[in-house]
Formats: sequence, C-alpha cells, structure tokens
Amino acid sequence: MENKLQKQLDILFYDTDFNFEGNPSIAVIGAGVAGLSTALSLHKAGAKVTIISAQESTEHNQANLDKGTYPITSQVAGALWEYPPAVCGAHNDADSEENAKAWTVSTLRALQKVVRQPELFPDVGVHMYPSGFYYKQKIVPPEIEEGEAYPTMSKMLNIAKNPYISGFIYNGDDDKLLKMYRDITPPFIIDKDIVDGFQHDAALIDTDVWMGFLRSLTEQCGIPVIQRAVEDFYAEKDDISKAVEDQGRGTPVSFVICTGVNSNYVAKDKGVYPRRGAVYRFPHTKGGPGGDPLPEVANIPHLDLLKNHAFCMPVSELNDNLTEPSIPENEPGDPSHFAFIVPRGDHSIVVGGFSEAIGADEANDSFNYYKESNRMDGPYTRVDIDKKYYAERVQEMTEKAVSFLQPVADLINVHKAKGLHNYLYTGLRPFRVGGCRLELEEGTNIVHNYGHGGSGVSWSIGCAVESTHYVRKLLNGHYKSKPKDKQIQQLLQNNCREYVYTPLKKIQTVGDLYHQEKLNKTHRQTP
Ligand SMILES: Cc1cc2nc3c(=O)[nH]c(=O)nc-3n(C[C@H](O)[C@H](O)[C@H](O)COP(=O)(O)OP(=O)(O)OC[C@H]3O[C@@H](n4cnc5c(N)ncnc54)[C@H](O)[C@@H]3O)c2cc1C
Repeated sequence: MENKLQKQLDILFYDTDFNFEGNPSIAVIGAGVAGLSTALSLHKAGAKVTIISAQESTEHNQANLDKGTYPITSQVAGALWEYPPAVCGAHNDADSEENAKAWTVSTLRALQKVVRQPELFPDVGVHMYPSGFYYKQKIVPPEIEEGEAYPTMSKMLNIAKNPYISGFIYNGDDDKLLKMYRDITPPFIIDKDIVDGFQHDAALIDTDVWMGFLRSLTEQCGIPVIQRAVEDFYAEKDDISKAVEDQGRGTPVSFVICTGVNSNYVAKDKGVYPRRGAVYRFPHTKGGPGGDPLPEVANIPHLDLLKNHAFCMPVSELNDNLTEPSIPENEPGDPSHFAFIVPRGDHSIVVGGFSEAIGADEANDSFNYYKESNRMDGPYTRVDIDKKYYAERVQEMTEKAVSFLQPVADLINVHKAKGLHNYLYTGLRPFRVGGCRLELEEGTNIVHNYGHGGSGVSWSIGCAVESTHYVRKLLNGHYKSKPKDKQIQQLLQNNCREYVYTPLKKIQTVGDLYHQEKLNKTHRQTP
C-alpha cells in the first residue's frame, strides 16, 4: 500500500525532485485542486503538512445540492486540460501566460502517466480524448503582417511544436479536420460559419472523482484538515500556527495560500476578482458513473462522438481576424460566450460556457455568499444567486451550444422534452489583475498559489510543484526555475523517448511560420 502511494506521488509530482531536511511543518490554506495538489507535493518533498480550509469537495448528489452544500469551484470546473490561453479567455499578462505554458505542460505530463497506468490509478476520473477547437475565421490568415500579434495562430503553433502534446491535426487549407466529421455525419457541425479548426489530445477530468482521489491521497499521507474559515490570513497567522501546533504538527515554518477567489480577502489581494461562469451536466446514463444508458437519449445519432471527443469554439472566434488578445476586458454585463462541450467520465456531457466580469453588487453578494457558505450558516443561498445573476447568461450559453453541434442540440432537446434530470453548476473563476500569483512573498514565509482564472485544473500540478520549489527557496535558498518551453525542447532532445516527434524547422518569425508548408501536414500520434 505504502509502496503504491509512493509510486503515485512519484508520478504526479515527478518535478518535486528534492527533499527538505528535518520534516518541516508547513500549513496549506485551502482544499481546492490547488491546495490538495500543493499539500501532496510538499508531503512528497518530506514536509509535515497540515491543511486549513473552510470547505472541502463534496460528493455530488441531489441530497447535498438540496441542503445547499454546493461543490467548491474546483468541482464546478468542466474540466478540460487546455494549453493557454484557455477557451474562456486569456490572462491579460504576458509573463503569466508564459509561466502558464510550463505549468500546463507539467500537469499534462503527469496526467498522461496517470492514464497510461490504470493499475496504479484505477478510476480516478482522468481520460485522454481528441479535443477540437473551431473558428469562424482562418487561423492562419491569408496576409501576415510582420510585427502584428496573432494569438490564435501562435497558440496553435505552440501546440504543434510541443513535444508532449499528441494527436495534433490542423485543418489547414484542405478542411481535413472539418471533413473528418462532416464525412461521418453531414451536417454534424451545424454552424455553417465555421471555416477552420485544429485538434489535439487533451485530458478530461471528472473533477468530482479527481478531487475525491486527491483527498484520499492526502488521507493516506496522514495530512489532517482543520476546518476553519479565515477572514484575514495576516491577522490570524499566529492563531493558525497555534491550531496546527494543537494538532501535534509542530510550528509551521511556511504557509501556502490556495484560497482561490477568496484570496481577495484572505490574502488581502484586491487584484483578485471573479469572472462568473456555468456548466450544465447532461447525464446519458442512469444513476451516474457506471450506470446503464438512459433509454431516452440512447438513440441520439452520433452521441458516441460527444462521449469521446471535446468540442470548443473559443472566445477568440468572436474577434476580428483573430488578432486581438482572446479575452476582451469586459465590463460587467458584457459577457464573452464560448461553446464548450466535453465528456465527463462515462456518464455525462458537459455544456458550457460563458465568462463575465461581475459588478460590485454581485461581487459583494458573491463574496458574502462564499463567506457565509464557508461558515455553513449564511443567509444567502446558491439558488438566490443563480436566479438573480445567471438565468439570462445560461439561456444564451445553451443557445450557442445548440447552434453549434447537432448531437448537442438533440441531447438538450431530449432532456427538455422528457424532463430528464440535469445539473447546472455555477461558479466564480478566480481571476487576478496581472495573472496568477505564484510567488514567495518578499520578507515573509508565505507562498501564494491562487488566481488561476479558468485554468486552475490545467495548471494544478505544475503550480503545486512550483509552490514547493518556493518553499525550498525559503528554507535553504535553492530554487529551480520552471521548465520553460526551451528547456522542455532540450529535455526532449536529450532523453525523452516517450513520443514520436518530427521536429519542425527552426522558427524565426511569424512570416517564416506562415511559409512553412510542413505545418499543414503535421500530425503526430503517441505510439
Ligand atoms: C464554470 C467553470 C468552468 C471551469 N472550467 C475549467 C476547465 O475546464 N479547466 C480548468 O483547468 N479550469 C476550469 N475552471 C477554473 C477552475 O475551476 C479554477 O481555476 C480552480 O478550481 C481554482 O482552484 P483553487 O483550488 O484555487 O480554488 P477553489 O476550488 O475555489 O478552492 C479554494 C479552497 O479554499 C477554501 N477557502 C476559501 N475561502 C476560504 C477561507 N476564507 N478560509 C479558509 N479556506 C477558504 C475553499 O473552501 C476551498 O477548499 C472553471 C471554473 C468555472 C467556474
């Protein structure tokens, strides 16, 4: 058992490749995907970890929803692993975006190993599927202006080049990607304006199952969870230390703050702001995972494709010529819509999404809601918030999905017509001005790991590892820089035999990229 646990930790946190001296006590605040992953990475490095959190992930069932015990944001997530920027939009900060590339790839590599070793990771809720991204304009425009930014093309080329991302196909000029589906079932894609797309393999995470798995690992590691709602970490730091000591865990030498959107008040970081969003889960089995097919939906043509493939129309397809950064700086009431249709385990299809900056009123309501729900006795209920702020957006989100893919339209219509049970999950993405905060706060023993926006699951393992490296920096001055793309390439050339990889020519400029015809034919697969 112990051996299995150690192997699991070695695989998930392969980049946590050092040991602290002397089993230092470290407190992690928050038990979302960021907090649990960080706690496990620190434990792997030999720390004595204690988690302090207002709430933990909950079992997803009607009884809990009826009680008002609502899943934390990490469970609400879709969750599709995505190369940055995510379909719900970019973080508006170039450095943060650069760092995010390393965090996502680090997470992907761990998840790939999870999928390949089911004997070590049975039923943990992670699957690897082809994921398609569809656009209403050409990703590589006919004319390329030197010096002009082309974020969508640049994202696609980064994916094409990345040695760890398998199954890349570009639609190019031959409409290969779209034909693939239209040939199977014309007109499978019903939005006739779609003219381009690309796809690659990506991890789909059933976050209820994955969060449960992470929690079971922390239990096996003997990491206790102290239930506590923190109002102001700085004011309560000594008290939190005392609570950890009272558990017999020693005095914490470092604290890692992973409180998601609530870091706004917990870490006194006014840059943290919520962008709200929602996802519908439409079951196609009876009684959840492992259940028999629902007879009402079993005959929907091509439903199987939805069960084994992710389909997205990102925010950036709305921008002229795909030259703008992919997230508009929204005013409240000016949401960005995107289509997000992904399989969840073997039981449901997730339909999302939208992303909307929220006004002061709702922010207050929502923060109050979160604060109060953390105390479990608040006056606000999730239903009030949902009715007041989400109804119109959810309607628009559903319409967008219905006009995108025929099987989705059929699935939603059958659910409606037959009155089948489906679940709407709403949540606040923890965005932050200037991007994610992952750093050792100067002059303190506090590491911050929050503000992951719409990508916290995709970045979770990479960020956990990097938080651990910051604690190491604090304790003994060593710090390993994050694996930047260049280093990943180097690593591959030196010793990685995991993938068949045809290197592209050395790329200099956007113009070079455009004229590099090989790109259109690039298609890699894992062996
Ligand atoms: C609709 C939607 C769809 C999404 N889809 C995706 C996706 O497809 N892919 C992806 O990668 N990401 C997705 N995300 C984003 C992702 O969910 C978040 O980035 C991620 O969950 C953040 O994780 P976290 O651990 O930082 O925060 P949380 O999950 O919010 O966890 C915070 C933890 O801190 C605790 N806490 C909070 N306040 C306090 C307090 N005052 N005192 C003590 N403890 C406290 C909470 O109880 C909780 O345990 C989506 C988000 C939404 C809303």
